[in-house]
Formats: sequence, structure tokens, C-alpha cells
Amino acid sequence: MTHPRAAPVQPRPILPNDFRAQWALVRGRVVTAVERVGESGHLILGAEVLAFEEELARRWGVPFCIGCASGLDALEIALRCAGLRPGDEVLTTPLSAFATTLAIVRAGGVPLFVDVDECGQLDLDAAGEALERRRSIRFVVPVHLFGHAMDLEGLGALRDRFGLHVVEDCAQAIGARSRGRAVGTLGDAAATSFYPTKNLGCMGDGGAVLTRSAQAAELARSLRDYGQSEKYEHRFLGLNSRLDEIQAAILRDALLPELARFTARRVEIAARYREEIRNPGLRVPPAPEGSESVWHLFPVLVSGERGSFQEHLRRDGIGSGVHYPRTIPEQPALLEAHVGERLTPLLQAEAFARREVSLPLHPFLTEREVGRVVASCNSWRG
Ligand SMILES: *Cc1c(COP(=O)(O)O)cnc(C)c1O
Repeated sequence: MTHPRAAPVQPRPILPNDFRAQWALVRGRVVTAVERVGESGHLILGAEVLAFEEELARRWGVPFCIGCASGLDALEIALRCAGLRPGDEVLTTPLSAFATTLAIVRAGGVPLFVDVDECGQLDLDAAGEALERRRSIRFVVPVHLFGHAMDLEGLGALRDRFGLHVVEDCAQAIGARSRGRAVGTLGDAAATSFYPTKNLGCMGDGGAVLTRSAQAAELARSLRDYGQSEKYEHRFLGLNSRLDEIQAAILRDALLPELARFTARRVEIAARYREEIRNPGLRVPPAPEGSESVWHLFPVLVSGERGSFQEHLRRDGIGSGVHYPRTIPEQPALLEAHVGERLTPLLQAEAFARREVSLPLHPFLTEREVGRVVASCNSWRG
């Protein structure tokens, strides 16, 4: 008996994220959570949001958590809780999601950029020199980028030396630690995001403010709800930025219980990439010293044509990303409005923007798929 020649089996494409695989895992718990909310008859700021906030605060080791509609809003609210007033200068990083700077601008702040270090994090030495030269700066928004924890000791020293208010952007770094200390526990307040791609993603948009201050927490609760102190009593010019009951229920029942396992899997995959990718044309930027990273992204720096490396991956069925293709002060919205100022040359940030490629990194990658990414990286001749 003869067999028709089998068509070569195309392996499944490797995606930067796999939300359908996640759905297959959490579907039952999500459906039950949605039913519970529906049956409760309470859709906004009820028991589910409160229960999720308490659970996340407990796990994070921070007294207060305030659910918001997005990470962007959470950052804006956190800045206002830290005392930012219109016109205040805010030192920040040029290498991040645009939302970091957008939140500063929306809160009325003036973003001032200093370069990043070789790990891609705000360069604390450059920041120290800039703060020395410009004593009027009272706020800093560092970002724990790529899932690393930036040096919290160094950041604390900078805060104490210049009397700064610190608002940490933890959107990419939930659970990361710097020498044992959790990100988000150093500043006046911190913000995180539940955008679906984040390490703790919901099924839509969401975010949260974390803080150790009861006063900041109370203000955040008011600001996310039109600035009300009690019903129809508006003390502040707030936002509509409430986390939905449905998202809170899904997070608490389905996603938060997976976070530790998802993170452990990310760490495992990153360790394999770091061990096995051996190509002189690709360099993995180092993690900050003392960082227990949660590997939101896996950046490599390409020497040579970034586009040709991504095309090589694509031919092997591997998706990739770029974080980020330009620095924040080079974004047209800021250039056109003449908003923002560079306090140092941004050479390192610009090098990241030119050379960075993010490899697939999510909890549903199989060992075989990780092996395919490694093999493709190692076979690239740039
Ligand atoms: C995703 C992200 C944000 C914004 O979060 P959204 O929920 O999308 O508004 C802010 N900062 C960083 C570093 C991010 O990665």
C-alpha cells in the first residue's frame, strides 16, 4: 500500500502572547466569576473590586490597593496622590511605554528626561547629576522596565539626598524584587497595569495604585470616582477611572491564582534564553544587580539590521516585538507641543530604540517552542 507523500507539517507559529491558550486554562473560572457578578446585580465598585484590592495588597505586601480603569490612569492618580501640582517638574526615563510620560503630562507635570543605563533602567548616576544641577525637581517616576527591579537602594538614596517624591511605574514588574524588596514599596505610591499582555493581565483594561499611605489611598479612591468624597460631594477634579466588578472578579478568581506559576514559567524561559542563545550579533542586556526579575519581556540588542533579524524570525514562524522603536521625547505629540526636556544626552536610550527586539516570552510556550526560538536566534547571520 502506498501513502500519498505527507505535506511537511508547518509548526504552529510562536506568538508574542497566546491569549487563546490562556482562555483554555481559565475559561471555567472566568465564566463562574462573570455569573457571580451578574447575579449580584452590582456592576461598579462593589464587593468584587474591594475583595480583589485586598487580595492584591496582601500578596504585594503593601497596605492599600486602589483599582483603576488602566495603568495610565493609575499613574496619573498616583502622581496626584504624591502631591504633584500643575507645573511641577518630574524626572523620568525616555525608554518606556508612552503612558509613563503621558500620565505625568496629564497630571500637569513637566517631564524631564535622563538617559538609561546598560540594563535599560533610569540611570541613577545621571539622575543624581541632573538633580544636582536642577534643584527645583521634586518628583521622579522610575520604571521597572522589562520585568526587572531597578536598584531600589540606589533609588532610595537619591530620594533621601534630594527630598524627592517617588512614584514607581510597576506595570511590567509585578512581583519583582530588588535585593529582596518588592518593587512599588519604596515610593509615595506605585502604579501597575492589568492590560492583557502584562504579567497579571485581565480581559480588557485595568490598573491599580499601590501605596503605604492611608491618606494617599483615600485620595486615590476619591480621584478615580470623579473626585467625590461622598456621593455627589466633589472635593477634587477627579477622573472616571473605576476598575469594573467583572474585571476584578476575573482577576481574583482566574488570573491572580496563576500569577506565581506564570511568573515561574517566565523566569524558566528567560533562563533558557540567557543560557542557550549564543550569537555574537545578539546581546542580552544585563539585569540590574540584585534584581529578582519577573521577565515581562525578553529584550535582545541586535548589532546589524534589526529588520532583517525580525524577518529571519518570521520566516521561522516566530513573532517578535520592539520595546520601544523610539524614545519618548522623540514622539510627535511631545515634539509638537514642545513638552519635555532632555537633561542629559540620551545615547543609551537611543541605542535601545534602534537595536532592541523582544523575543516571545509567555507562560504557554512549550520547551520545544523555546528551543525553536533559540535555534532561530543562533542561526541568524546578521
Ligand atoms: C503598559 C504600561 C503602562 C500603561 O498601562 P495601561 O494599562 O496600558 O494604561 C504604563 N507603563 C508601562 C511601563 C507599561 O508597560
